[in-house]
Amino acid sequence: MDRPEALSQDGRTFATWLAETGAPPAARDLVGRLVSGGLLSGGPAENSLLETLFYVASAGGTGPLLGYEGGAQETRFVGGAQHLADRMASALPEGTLRLGEPVHTVEYVPDAARVHTPRGVMDAARVVLAVPPVLAGRLHYSPALPPLRAGLLQRMPAGTALKIHAVYARPFWRAAGLSGVAQSAEGVLTETVDNTPPGARRAVLTGFAYGAEAALLRRQAPGARRRAVLDHLTALFGPEAGEPEEFVAFDWLAEEWTRGCFSGHLVPGAWTTFGPVLREAVGPLHWAGTETAVHWNGYFDGAVESGYRAAEEVRRSL
Ligand SMILES: Cc1cc2nc3c(=O)[nH]c(=O)nc-3n(C[C@H](O)[C@H](O)[C@H](O)COP(=O)(O)OP(=O)(O)OC[C@H]3O[C@@H](n4cnc5c(N)ncnc54)[C@H](O)[C@@H]3O)c2cc1C
Repeated sequence: MDRPEALSQDGRTFATWLAETGAPPAARDLVGRLVSGGLLSGGPAENSLLETLFYVASAGGTGPLLGYEGGAQETRFVGGAQHLADRMASALPEGTLRLGEPVHTVEYVPDAARVHTPRGVMDAARVVLAVPPVLAGRLHYSPALPPLRAGLLQRMPAGTALKIHAVYARPFWRAAGLSGVAQSAEGVLTETVDNTPPGARRAVLTGFAYGAEAALLRRQAPGARRRAVLDHLTALFGPEAGEPEEFVAFDWLAEEWTRGCFSGHLVPGAWTTFGPVLREAVGPLHWAGTETAVHWNGYFDGAVESGYRAAEEVRRSL
């Protein structure tokens, strides 16, 4: 934030910067779709150049982020990402976790806090808020949060990626020598992967739409949306792709306890104004979650890093 060019980078969108490069339109479109979409889960006009640079740098560059071999796309959780939380939870003493009990109000004084849930209250010397900013901003705080924290939470909306799964009797694309991985400069889907779980009876192609394409699909009726996605898969993988046994479009924007996909991002102009308080505690309230991570911001790794950092803050303050 102290760099002189940070202000100018925060005031320009990634789309503006792409236009300034003078690169051919096709190259700009593809880079915009892959970086602003595939990484920041929006469109190039939605994020500042500074937010884009921070996000890419936090993971060590576009190579580690977009790469399969040795990169972020190489591995997946067998059984789904929920396994990570389940395995961590299994190490905790019985009764530590209280599930199905969302916090709705946080009261605090300089050295203590009380959180309210539909089932009662809990008192604590410190509270770590490890929810996405879009959800933290919906809680009721008493007293109201300081202006910079309140403003920050208003300026970090969640990504808007739309995820689809097409399920087939067999992975027909492999027989044609295709991996199932595609990156498209045109069409509704920017990315596809072979998402077939190991040993599964059926095969899965998973696709993502971002930015303007995701907005277009959201405006369509379910039937038209399905047709648009399957037409794109057919263009990529042949006619069999148009006839899945099952089709699922899951919109995380409408998921109450997530409200977006993949993670939250500061809007243009917000890094240099509200960003400096991103990890700053408010009395006994500490802030965690992947959006507060220095490394692998937006990813599971970043969420874990933020947990260690917040725990260390709490330990020191006590
Ligand atoms: C479709 C999709 C695909 C993704 N793919 C990848 C990937 O391949 N690799 C990767 O590294 N990351 C991926 N991510 C990002 C990854 O999910 C996040 O980085 C990670 O989950 C962030 O963890 P977190 O603990 O910060 O927040 P969350 O995982 O959002 O956890 C917050 C928790 O708080 C709970 N909660 C919310 N409100 C309240 C409340 N009021 N009271 C109590 N509890 C509450 C929620 O139910 C949730 O369990 C993906 C995200 C999505 C949506």
